[in-house]
Order: sequence, then structure tokens, then C-alpha cells
Amino acid sequence: RAVGIKTAAMDYLENIELALNLKEEEHALTYQQLAQMAFQDQLSGLWNFRYFTRRFNEEIKRAKRYGHLVSLLLLDIDFFKNFNDTHGHQSGNKALEHVAALLRDGVRETDLVARYGGEEFAIILPQTPKHEALLVGESLRKRIEESVVDLPGAGLQRLTVSLGLSTYPRDARSVEAVIEGADAALYESKGAGRNRVSTFHPQTKARLAYTPDLDDSAQTISVAGDFNGWHKSVDLMEKAADGTYST
Ligand code: GH3
Ligand code: MG
Ligand code: MG
Repeated sequence: RAVGIKTAAMDYLENIELALNLKEEEHALTYQQLAQMAFQDQLSGLWNFRYFTRRFNEEIKRAKRYGHLVSLLLLDIDFFKNFNDTHGHQSGNKALEHVAALLRDGVRETDLVARYGGEEFAIILPQTPKHEALLVGESLRKRIEESVVDLPGAGLQRLTVSLGLSTYPRDARSVEAVIEGADAALYESKGAGRNRVSTFHPQTKARLAYTPDLDDSAQTISVAGDFNGWHKSVDLMEKAADGTYST
């Protein structure tokens, strides 16, 4: 059609705009896909190890700056090799998805669940003291124990998991040390028979010196205040034969 320069220019601009919009959309989609590929575990839909490492470093940094707590739960499926050998790798994958969904639905919005690798998962609990994280771990363990995986052909199957817990800064003061602590506790859970949560107990010693004024009167000493985050429900304090106490 015969058009004036103005109409032609408008047509041109409109088409350019369309083309640009399309490009932008394509661009955004690609970026989203890339981000997903970079940080999401394909099988479970959870965050992957790379994202976990990144976020855990950030959480510890933040906790250091603001004096917060961060708890870490490491979780490993019990006898999973056996599960795979019995039901096949595909069924194993189904079980992994099943556990992942229970974990995702079993924590708070502020907690972060990641696939740590293979049949291991990590849960970051920001601003959560150890005794509260222990309750979370115990509820996840129970949730999984009480659930069933529906396998086509093999019916309803059960699974259990073992967990290890470590808390910054009570148990450890670096990213690596918190992970090592949770890992050691997880190892303890496995050794103690699996299907349980264990808490990490670092080797710490506190020395209280006390000299009584009166030799013949019974006296009671109380330790008041926040004793490095000590809590009776998660940190044992047992009396040894020589009368000393240790955690
Ligand atoms: P434990 O109770 O001591 O943890 O025993 P386990 O058999 O779970 O431990 P082990 O480390 O010997 O076996 C882990 C198994 O997890 C072996 C491996 O085949 C399986 N596994 C790891 N990643 C995947 C996966 O993506 N899909 C499937 N189906 N299996 C996986
Ligand atoms: Mg394992
Ligand atoms: Mg295992």
C-alpha cells in the first residue's frame, strides 16, 4: 500500500517493538532456565549442593554479624543401596522424590532444604536454637517413618532416615566446622542403629573454681545466664565418678 513517511515510520517502530519484546521474553526465559539449571536439583526439585553452599555461607556470615544462631540438619536415607537393589533404580528415584516432598512440606518457609548429594539432604534453619532444630529433625524423621512410597508393581514401601544436627555458634564457629559437626552427628545416628536424630557435642571444657566460706554448712551453687547456649534438652551434663560434671 502507498503510505506516507509518518505511517511507515510508525509501522517500523511498532514492528521493532514487537521484535524487541519477543527477544526480551526469550532472554528472560533463557535466564530463568539457566538459573534453574544452576541452582535446582533436577530429580527432587529442591535446591542443589551449589546453592546450599552459597546460602549457608551467607547465613553464617549474617549470623556472625548480627549475633544470630543457625542450625544445620544433615539427613541420609537408611539402607538405600538395599532399596535400589530390591526395587530398582527408577523406584529409588521415586523414593528420593517422595522424601524430598516430605522435607519441603515439613519445614518453615524460612528454612532451606537442599539435596546435598545422592541420597543425602541438608536443611538450613536460620535463627533456630539447637533444641528447636532437634524438634524439627525429630518431626521430619517421624514424618518419613510414618509415610509410604507407592511403587508400581511393588506396592507400598517404607523408608527411614538418619539425621545429624549442629548449631552455629554453640557447636562450631565456621561453615566447615558446622558441616563437619552435623556430619559427625549423622555418623553417630548410623552407628547407633539408624532412624534417629543425633546432636553434635563438641569437646568443650568449663572450669568453675569455688572455695566455700564455711566448712560445715551445705551450700548450693547455681550457674546463671546463657552458658554458651547450653540447653538441658540437647546437651547432657553428667556427673562423673570423681564428682565433676561435663557436657
Ligand atoms: P546407610 O544406611 O549407611 O546410609 O546405607 P546406604 O545403603 O543408604 O548407604 P550407601 O552410601 O552405601 O548407599 C547409597 C545409595 O544411594 C547408593 C546409590 O546407588 C544410591 N543413590 C545415590 N544417588 C541416587 C539417585 O539419584 N537415584 C537412586 N535411585 N539411587 C541413588
Ligand atoms: Mg549416603
Ligand atoms: Mg544412606
